[in-house]
Amino acid sequence: MQIDKTRKLQNVRYDLRGPISDEADRLERTGVSIIRLNTGNPAAFGFPAPPSVLDSLSEFADTSVPYSGTKGLPAVREAIAAYCTSIGLPNVGVDDIYTGNGVSEMIKISLQALLNNDDEVLLPSPDYPLWTAATLLAGGKAVHYMCDEQSDWYPDIEDMKRKITPRTRAILIINPNNPTGAVYPKELLQAVVDLAREHELVLFSDEIYDRLLMDDAEHIPLASLAPDLFTIHFNGLSKSHQICGYRAGWMALCGDKSGAGGYIEGINTLASLRLCSNVTGQSVIPAALADTASTRANCVPGGRLYEQRAYTYDALGTIPGLSVVKPRAGLYMFPKIDTGMYGITDDETFVLDFLREKHVLLSHGRGFNWKQPDHFRLVYLPCMEELIQVMDRLRDFLAGYRQT
Ligand code: PLP
Repeated sequence: MQIDKTRKLQNVRYDLRGPISDEADRLERTGVSIIRLNTGNPAAFGFPAPPSVLDSLSEFADTSVPYSGTKGLPAVREAIAAYCTSIGLPNVGVDDIYTGNGVSEMIKISLQALLNNDDEVLLPSPDYPLWTAATLLAGGKAVHYMCDEQSDWYPDIEDMKRKITPRTRAILIINPNNPTGAVYPKELLQAVVDLAREHELVLFSDEIYDRLLMDDAEHIPLASLAPDLFTIHFNGLSKSHQICGYRAGWMALCGDKSGAGGYIEGINTLASLRLCSNVTGQSVIPAALADTASTRANCVPGGRLYEQRAYTYDALGTIPGLSVVKPRAGLYMFPKIDTGMYGITDDETFVLDFLREKHVLLSHGRGFNWKQPDHFRLVYLPCMEELIQVMDRLRDFLAGYRQT
């Protein structure tokens, strides 16, 4: 008997955990040790959960056993709503907060509740690919607007404008950005808000890296500029508190909800179909939100993330044919590779070749819905000694590499 997958999954991909990662698993089973730079999973690189979170976890271990209400525990939603208000998100009350099994679940619910078949969503290129996958799974069409490497990877507003059609329902901004590490200035965000206002679009703002800012980067929440529009803000603790495995995320409905009753009803239905999010994960959120110091400590000079970013950026700059825009937040770099110099026509093959020869797992740029085979993404989470090894192996590998 042949059992096929549903046609709904035909174009759905999530390459960060796809065939290249499977090949890394296969190599590991043969006894090879692989340095995995494909997912932003801080605890896997020795970033511990902060004591604030662990204390809270033991405090609530017993009381977080039952299901919670669909949207989450009231005290947790109150803490999130207060936090949202404190960062300037307009018109957010307890009822507007939904806790999720990571931001990932909130992304799927928010898209599924909105899109009819072939409705369009404007998504960045490069993107965090779960957004494209979830749009397709919801029956929608992912339309990618360009982010411009020459302009610090800022979204190209003219391109965004050109791609709006009568079927466009929403625009997504990922800020700070994965994979580029860009942090957007106010004028740019204002231009996105103006477009959404003109074309009556929902705004999605994935701001999961908003506490991982470096240098003098300032984060401006998109919703804070759009009190008269309907914005969904997405956030969570996977990155800021290094607890990806707890699956602690949320979304907040912000701004003017007067016309969004039908959509919110759809969100409520989908949220109730998953009963509730992991309650143990929810229970640590208030303590984590009160603890901004542990995140900050990593991002300032002397902090692990800050120093690892500095090293990686400098080292990439010394490898012939590589260039990279310095990220100002987050965990990632998205370097450009001179495809002419190395005869590269397929970035997936490049990443596979590097994996097989040097046992380091990168992610190819096209996995982020970037159209050209000329980028890859790496996480700069490994400790310094390991990063030094990675850069040495990459330099060595490229010195002898020609794909075609
Ligand atoms: N959004 C962005 C931009 C991400 O990079 C990630 C994870 O890497 C997520 C959402 C999902 O995070 P989680 O489901 O762990 O909250």
